[in-house]
Amino acid sequence: MSVKTKLAILGSGPAGYTAAIYAARAQLNPILFTGLESGGQLMYTSVLENYPGFPNGIRAVQLMMNLRQQAEKFGCTIKDQLVSAVDFHQTKKSSFKLWTQLPSDIDPNIYKNADADQIQNVIDKIKKEVPDFEAEAVIIATGATAIKLNISGEDKFFGQGVSTCAVCDSSFYKDKIVYVIGGGDSAMEDSLALANFAQKVIIIHRRHQFRASRIMQERVFKNKKIDILWESQIKKIQGQNKIETIQVESHNKSIPNFLKPLLIALKTSKNQAGQKIQELQLKADGVFLAIGHLPVSQLFVDQLALDKKGYLITRQSASQAGLQAAQHAIDENALIKYPTMTSIAGIFAAGDVVDLQYKQAITAAGSGCMAAIDAEKWLNSIS
Ligand code: NAP
Repeated sequence: MSVKTKLAILGSGPAGYTAAIYAARAQLNPILFTGLESGGQLMYTSVLENYPGFPNGIRAVQLMMNLRQQAEKFGCTIKDQLVSAVDFHQTKKSSFKLWTQLPSDIDPNIYKNADADQIQNVIDKIKKEVPDFEAEAVIIATGATAIKLNISGEDKFFGQGVSTCAVCDSSFYKDKIVYVIGGGDSAMEDSLALANFAQKVIIIHRRHQFRASRIMQERVFKNKKIDILWESQIKKIQGQNKIETIQVESHNKSIPNFLKPLLIALKTSKNQAGQKIQELQLKADGVFLAIGHLPVSQLFVDQLALDKKGYLITRQSASQAGLQAAQHAIDENALIKYPTMTSIAGIFAAGDVVDLQYKQAITAAGSGCMAAIDAEKWLNSIS
């Protein structure tokens, strides 16, 4: 038999926990499913310096533990489980169906690594069983996950030299040569974390300008262990049992001095667009990918409206689709009804799974609060 709940919350980042705190205080007795990685992406970050209320910063892990405790204190039930399938095609009240079971031969990481068809096959199999939970309303706060480059050697060395989490792995790179790919805040943060251990950190960025915040860029520029290879892209990661070299395509006219001790081979050629490029083979021990994130929304592909990149569309999505959804939801006071509602009434979404623009811990927390308030109002309206 399915366990029945008024409100299910999927995800345990700042959006999920904030929704849980508000919903629990509203006496909705929510159940929060943490997913595979309790605490979400912030568990891969070191210190949050821009989360309001902490003038000396707060360790991200500590913040997530505090949020979890706060949600539990007000009566939220927390399940350290992954929701493995959902059915939002509601036929009666209290019938948004959720499954948490997984066939014994299925690795839960399939939801991160497999292609859409494989995931759908697993979901179809799971849905033949009785749902584990039924909820009257659902808040989706499943966040986002790191993007990979899809280059040769990336999968072979993933977890063994290729990483998306410098905070987790930087101590393995004491006195090593490591490369960070990307030019956003994650790349800056990863480089600074790695510089505490590595002999040399080289950021490889495809343009000649970072998109990271000014303060993070300045810290990187000041750090003597970090150098930057502009207008360049990593093309291959090579080695026998561990990473030995990387191949980089560079638009620089000359080789910067900091690269010379690491240079194994150099070839000048033209790329597909006919531009002159340098192909560098460089000594390497590690490669850290910091090229952005994708929303974790595979579970909802056949259930809810998503945009082309996979972000869930709500009535406050900062996009044309969001605008259209909002236009259909204007109330008698000319306000948008339930801004965090998705394409199905009763299903709300918050945090990075919706947000293609801001992606901050504080904006995720704020939208989690909004989703809980919307869910409470909507539940009251149908009772
Ligand atoms: P991001 O801002 O989207 O930056 C991704 C970077 O990767 C960009 O520089 C991009 O290059 C590069 N890139 C993307 N695809 C690539 C490819 N195929 N090959 C090579 N380079 C590629 O992602 P993020 O750094 O993860 O940050 C995401 C959000 O989280 C941001 O809003 C950021 O401010 C926030 N964040 C905040 C903190 C903090 O406040 N402490 C820490 C981490 C993240 P282009 O610039 O050329 O597009």
